[in-house]
Amino acid sequence: MTVFTVRSCKKAGDFIYPKLDIRSLDLEGVTKLVDSLGQPKFRALQLFKWLQSGVESFDEMTNIPAALRQQLDDMCYIATVKALRKYVSQIDGTVKYVYELYDGELIESVLMKYEYGYTVCISTQVGCRMGCKFCASGLYGLTRNLTASEMLAQITYAARDNDIRVSNVVMMGMGEPLDNFENSVQFLKLVSDENGINIGLRHISLSTSGVVSGIQKLAEYNFPITLSISLHAPNDDIRNKTMPVNKKWNIDALLQACKEYQKITTRRISFEYALIEGVNDSDDNARELAKKLKGIMCHVNLIPANPVKENTFKKPDRKAIIAFQKKLESLGVNATIRRTLGADIDASCGQLKKKTKEEIDGANIC
Ligand code: SAH
Ligand code: SF4
Repeated sequence: MTVFTVRSCKKAGDFIYPKLDIRSLDLEGVTKLVDSLGQPKFRALQLFKWLQSGVESFDEMTNIPAALRQQLDDMCYIATVKALRKYVSQIDGTVKYVYELYDGELIESVLMKYEYGYTVCISTQVGCRMGCKFCASGLYGLTRNLTASEMLAQITYAARDNDIRVSNVVMMGMGEPLDNFENSVQFLKLVSDENGINIGLRHISLSTSGVVSGIQKLAEYNFPITLSISLHAPNDDIRNKTMPVNKKWNIDALLQACKEYQKITTRRISFEYALIEGVNDSDDNARELAKKLKGIMCHVNLIPANPVKENTFKKPDRKAIIAFQKKLESLGVNATIRRTLGADIDASCGQLKKKTKEEIDGANIC
């Protein structure tokens, strides 16, 4: 599949014309483009490698003739991100970025260091339309989808800025990746391309709030990624209150889709469960959850819910979180409590963007 997107660019004299999003093209797409310009085939691989490496202008492509660089610059744009804010944790070196996109929109991204390497958490949309009650990303709805190239740019920027190689990616920043299906799939293909960033699909997690139609479509690709489901509730009563997506696809429909997905991919599924005090953290809730997950090869990630200013949700105390984990384990469900990285710069999904936007709006910068 070749995703062919254009955006309007201004040339001197205010003439507005569309430019091609060249960084979202796969090698096949770049080959067609090079071919259409009457260039030899070997240029395609050279160009593709440059585009995937994170260069921000055609001028950096030193082995491409100047005339071709100019021609490409006239026709195409290279998607980039600009770090507007950068917060570095003094505790563990986690770096959180607020990036500005070409149209002034803001997204978040996080770089985390683990024993096995560096992980980047990327955003897939500006905002989100799923409206989960505990999440800051959904507060203002969806502004727009990110292109595959804007997803890639979050990784190459972090790699270049910190002079590191990124080994893992989680699609767990702002946005619902399965609500931006084509671009997310194109991103997965590009980021794992051996001529590009070359991150193995086994090192990539895609997190969804439970878009069943997307899970079904994704199964057809049979990518060996980890599918992560933001479940957060053991029954429909609770899930309906916190996650509107549940009214379209309830827990049983979601878990059925997971089972079918697993049948095809044979991959273990990861369930995210944000513990909210008094809402989903009781002994009974753990029992209900264990029962629901029967028959699925899975792992549960327990996350102490991060308070968001706009709601009254609180995380349970440490003892209650451990008790919930022990209960699940005793019922045969594999569960871990997620380690919090960057606690001193803490801000989950969407909160940093919101803070930055408020600062900027307050200062009348934009
Ligand atoms: N839209 C996708 C991926 C992005 S959200 C999804 O929902 O899965 C990434 C994760 O952060 C999800 O598991 C989400 O439920 C969780 N999350 C969002 N706000 C949170 C909060 N305030 N506290 C804890 N986890 C939160
Ligand atoms: Fe969107 Fe995920 Fe936040 Fe829900 S948790 S609003 S799906 S980003």
